[in-house]
Amino acid sequence: MIRNPDAAQPTGSGHAHRKFTAAWGYALAILCAGVALFVTESLRNPLFPTPLFFAAIVITTWYGGSVPGIIAIILATFSLDYFFIPPLGSFALNKPEIAYLLEFALPALLTTWFVTKRRIAETTLREARDELQSRIEKRQEELARVSRMLTVGEMGVSIAHEVNQPLMAVVLNGDACLRWLSASPPNLDEARGAVGRIIEEGTRAGDIVRRIRALAKTSTRRAVVDLNQIAGEIEALLGRELTRGKISFRTELAKGLPSVRGDRVQLQQVVVNLAMNAIEAMSDLDQGRRELRIRSEVRESDGVVIAVEDSGPGLPAGNPEDLFTAFFTTKEDGLGIGLSISRTIIEAHGGRLWAFNSGSGAVFQFRLPILEEGA
Ligand code: ADP
Repeated sequence: MIRNPDAAQPTGSGHAHRKFTAAWGYALAILCAGVALFVTESLRNPLFPTPLFFAAIVITTWYGGSVPGIIAIILATFSLDYFFIPPLGSFALNKPEIAYLLEFALPALLTTWFVTKRRIAETTLREARDELQSRIEKRQEELARVSRMLTVGEMGVSIAHEVNQPLMAVVLNGDACLRWLSASPPNLDEARGAVGRIIEEGTRAGDIVRRIRALAKTSTRRAVVDLNQIAGEIEALLGRELTRGKISFRTELAKGLPSVRGDRVQLQQVVVNLAMNAIEAMSDLDQGRRELRIRSEVRESDGVVIAVEDSGPGLPAGNPEDLFTAFFTTKEDGLGIGLSISRTIIEAHGGRLWAFNSGSGAVFQFRLPILEEGA
């Protein structure tokens, strides 16, 4: 089937644009056929009058589409008949002339079909390339945001360090101030100096916190998020870790899971973090028993739940809530901030994150409110 390649192009400004494109195609057919006729005529009795008409048909089809191409064929056929096939100046035909014209028109039709196909292939290819490019740009943007998020996470550690310094100075100066005041007679100048330094250091600590909060805030972006999609992407994201850890990965995703509103990158961070913890928890297990499962389900009609389940040794003894406090870790090289950041993210989305033992391993799951229709 011959498809107009222009139909494959984005319509742009719609109806007016289509009308213009069609008019341009017809004008091109007339122009090209006219030029071919003019040049061939001026050659005076050329041996082969058809090549320029062929060129006109190819150019018209490529730039104007298949319908203008066919119009160019009709114009060319009539021109040949009228100007080059005796009796000249007449459309009268007899058998051998009909055969001659068919010999021209049929290959011309075939050429139009072929050129149209090429044109469609090229348009499709261009569209695919453009789409790929825009996808790559989007991914790069997300990647940049993920690395910014990670910076925010790493900053959690340096916050402790940075804020600690001014706080220590506040305490030391407070101590000194008390000593200057309780001396007899009290040294008010020194005490005033110490209070001045307390204010300075306090302000510095406040500035640090403000800076960090501003950074975290700018990296939040709310959009409609499909949690099933995030869960489905985990296998690709953690492919290397799953292979290296010889872990079998399974998803059980609820069909038609309602969307939530949130920051896709942050929510992805949470699932990645929970999955990484699960992978690490199973590292001492026998190979065949390492299983990571991500489930999604609708809960209580107004919430969706994502559960990350492993077949590891289960949660460490004690209150599961302790795991979510900052700097709690049972790992030698652990930071103990992954779960606390994850909980902050889920709570900032109006949800809840909790953990329990399933009998065959640990389960970490979060619940987020379903996006209201039209919200
Ligand atoms: P980190 O991984 O750096 O220790 P997290 O905040 O991510 O920090 O985790 C805190 C602690 O929670 C871990 O050290 C571990 O004891 C426990 N934990 C997390 N996930 C699991 C799991 N899937 N199975 C068992 N324990 C876990």
